[in-house]
Amino acid sequence: MSRPVGGVEAGGTKWVCAIGTGPDDITVGTFPTTTPDETIGRVVTFFREAGGVEAVGIGSFGPVDLARGRITTTPKPGWASTAVAEPIRSALGVPVAFETDVGAAAIGELRWGAAQGQRTFCYVTVGTGIGGAAVVDGVVLHGAGHAEMGHQRIPHDLTADAFPGSCPFHGDCWEGLASGPAVAARWGCPATELPPDHPAWALEAGYIAAGLANITYVLMPALVIVGGGVAGRPGLLDQVRVDLVRLLAGYVPAPEVRGAGLGDRAGVLGALALAVDVAAGPQRK
Ligand code: ZN
Repeated sequence: MSRPVGGVEAGGTKWVCAIGTGPDDITVGTFPTTTPDETIGRVVTFFREAGGVEAVGIGSFGPVDLARGRITTTPKPGWASTAVAEPIRSALGVPVAFETDVGAAAIGELRWGAAQGQRTFCYVTVGTGIGGAAVVDGVVLHGAGHAEMGHQRIPHDLTADAFPGSCPFHGDCWEGLASGPAVAARWGCPATELPPDHPAWALEAGYIAAGLANITYVLMPALVIVGGGVAGRPGLLDQVRVDLVRLLAGYVPAPEVRGAGLGDRAGVLGALALAVDVAAGPQRK
């Protein structure tokens, strides 16, 4: 390859760009998410000033229209119906791959992280939201659009947890009950400040396990990787594993649950991996 490739993790609060060839060979730049024109302009300038790239991969917040490379219905002011892939493609004159943020993170974990050697698995992130992606034979699974695993319904016992949920669309969907903002709203305290013996954690483990049980029944993955800031809490995934086995009740084997291998770099590294693939052409899919 004559030139390195570029990866872009397009987030609601910041965009992370990387130039290079892999985790041990990247230069990273981070920009706050301001207006679309300004933010995308900074990405283009970053890649140009680094000497150019062979291809760009983008993992974007959404919801997105994957075919058109656009953000669609986000409530983030100024960002609804925003083209992301095309302005970068036309400004840099290189091929661009476009994926969801969670889909890109899944590819990052496949290429360089906790899913290496596993062509088929699910990736779930529990942090400021909940998102999930299924990877089947190395490719992120999409239907008419991308999966919205975070908005699935899970059992909610109002006698044990009266919190109505924080999702603006559904109230007590999985994200509405178990994302970081949901935990903070329920207990009146950021999740990071809740002590290890706080009842929040048993409830959280049960909710994460309930969503994973649904994913297990629908997709039957052998492996689920759970990343994100909330899921990284020490000991939490141990309890999730116990709860998942209990919820599946011996009907099917529980998938292996692993923590993420790349941490908060999964998204931008996955975007870089997508760029490596698109630079190599369709034969390297
Ligand atoms: Zn929802």
